[in-house]
Amino acid sequence: MIYRPVRGGPARLFNGDEQAGHDVLADPADPKLDYITRLAVQATGADIGGISLMFQSRIWLPSRIGVQDCYLARAGSFCTSAVEEGSGWFEVEDASRDPRFAGNPLVSQVPHFRHYAAVPLQGDSAHLLGTLWVMGRAPRRLDVAQTAQLRLMARIVVDMLELRYCDAVTGMFNRAVFLQHLERILAERPGATLSVGMVDLIGFRQVNDLFRRETGDRILRLMGKRLEDWADGALLGHLGADQFAFALVSPPHDHEACMRRLCAAIDQPFEVEPGCMHTLNARIGIRRQALPCEESADGLLDAADIAASSIRQPQGASAVHEYDAALMARARLRYELREAIRGAPRFGRLEVHYQPQVDVAHGRLIGLEALVRWRHPVYGLVGPGMFVPQAETSGRIFELDMHVLELVCRDLMAWRARGLHVPPVALNFSRASLMHVQVFAHLAQVLEATGVPGELLEFEVTESQLLDSPTLLHQRISALRALGVRVAVDDFGTGYSNLDALTSFPFDRLKADRRFVHGVASDERTAGVFALIQGIAAVFEAELLCEGLEDEADLSWLAERGVHCVQGWYFSRAQPVQAIERVLRRFQEARDAPLSVPEMRALLA
Ligand code: C2E
Ligand code: MG
Ligand code: MG
Repeated sequence: MIYRPVRGGPARLFNGDEQAGHDVLADPADPKLDYITRLAVQATGADIGGISLMFQSRIWLPSRIGVQDCYLARAGSFCTSAVEEGSGWFEVEDASRDPRFAGNPLVSQVPHFRHYAAVPLQGDSAHLLGTLWVMGRAPRRLDVAQTAQLRLMARIVVDMLELRYCDAVTGMFNRAVFLQHLERILAERPGATLSVGMVDLIGFRQVNDLFRRETGDRILRLMGKRLEDWADGALLGHLGADQFAFALVSPPHDHEACMRRLCAAIDQPFEVEPGCMHTLNARIGIRRQALPCEESADGLLDAADIAASSIRQPQGASAVHEYDAALMARARLRYELREAIRGAPRFGRLEVHYQPQVDVAHGRLIGLEALVRWRHPVYGLVGPGMFVPQAETSGRIFELDMHVLELVCRDLMAWRARGLHVPPVALNFSRASLMHVQVFAHLAQVLEATGVPGELLEFEVTESQLLDSPTLLHQRISALRALGVRVAVDDFGTGYSNLDALTSFPFDRLKADRRFVHGVASDERTAGVFALIQGIAAVFEAELLCEGLEDEADLSWLAERGVHCVQGWYFSRAQPVQAIERVLRRFQEARDAPLSVPEMRALLA
């Protein structure tokens, strides 16, 4: 890379690649830094000036006055000499007579700059290396006042740079600067292979809580130093309390060995207090791409982050996971689901289908279970198994459950407005939704806005959800019931059948899981477990409803044992809203007499 001053205009710094047809890219101007640089140029009576930062083998100019473009080679530059000399001041009276700089194009080419003065910039953390410099055409020395002014401005520049570009604890590049440099790597290194990594320290917060804050800061600095030693010139960033990032261009062919070295470096124990050693492990997510690639710096870092968070708690050693096609599909789905929940039509829409529940003894429709579906523009109708777990892990489940609640309440009111008699509708509620701080405020708001009475709703909580923090859950469930809402224990028999948990809160209905219903007439073991479940429902005085009923033989077996409330494909699958409206109308018209099983099946078909 060479300097190429332009006659009559501002000096230009050209990248050697330009001959090969690549444009030189300019950093976005940083007006606040430019303000100081301009002051420095004026105060010293110079012609051009800049702030240069050393980064890898290059020098980066986040601010320049009279200089157009912004990257130049570090080797042999004025800035490198100024920093390497290590004193607080560097001045060259006449560069044309100095063998170190006489060949520098800024000096040897028009307009022949000859004087150079610089104050090396050095932050407290020693991460910032660079200069505030000025140059002029006439050979000279700055006087005492000018020197003092330049030094003072350099101090201000260091503070500003640290504030804007560096993490306050480690002094390493912050997220914005990391991404800016990563963007540049993407633009400038076609043909190279890039590995972007996210390093997520596990349990750092606990260290911070258990020991003093200074200890936490010291550990972060130590981790930063370990990464620097490992990365040897790679782009590094400290993105947040316990997150570091790196970008390796054309990493060694033995990528795995390189990652093993990284894990080994992180997993070294360190002293938290005199004589007390501690080890932190990390989840390390990697996104590898051959350049040029379509992804933005942000996208690459996000992918590395997703890969890191896909790692389950590693056991005693750091673990690495690379972003792959499965994660990509998951990430895409996550993104599209978020947009669909927000109502962006491009990603389809969520809709509710309803599965009827019947009481065969009384020949009546006793309820509907609301089951969410995603009408996706490419995949068609997608079942909840494909996206509810995603929503749970990505923290979107509350939004999803609330969206379903609103859709259900709107349907209920629309049916009632058309004069239909509507049975209670059961909603599936994930644990995170039930525990969400805003669940009651939101529920009350939806009930009020739609005018749906609480009695028309039932919330299903799966048995396994009951196990964690039962006291808190008890409070939530009692509060729900106070609104008139019914509560059902879903998928009963599949959890740990923790009777203790069941005794700790009131519920109205127990839903026996399909596993203990399907084949109950023909399989002794299933029948045995079912009898137990029936006994539990009786003890708790809860209504027993059997899910997943598919066969007539099972229905007869259940009826013989006094179990009449069922839901399953034998009667009906979940149906879209218009189809359910027709079902409601037919049942209303046939309301006078209890219906037989075949009659009900005919109405539900
Ligand atoms: P679930 O609450 O146990 O719902 C019953 C599931 O069994 C439904 O699957 C239903 O379509 C299916 N099913 C009903 N009858 C039969 C049958 O006779 N045979 C067979 N083989 N299956 C039957 P679906 O709709 O795929 O829902 C799966 C799960 O997704 C639900 O299990 C529920 O846990 C969850 N889910 C559905 N909607 C929501 C929602 O809005 N929010 C949350 N958090 N979870 C939901
Ligand atoms: Mg359910
Ligand atoms: Mg169920």
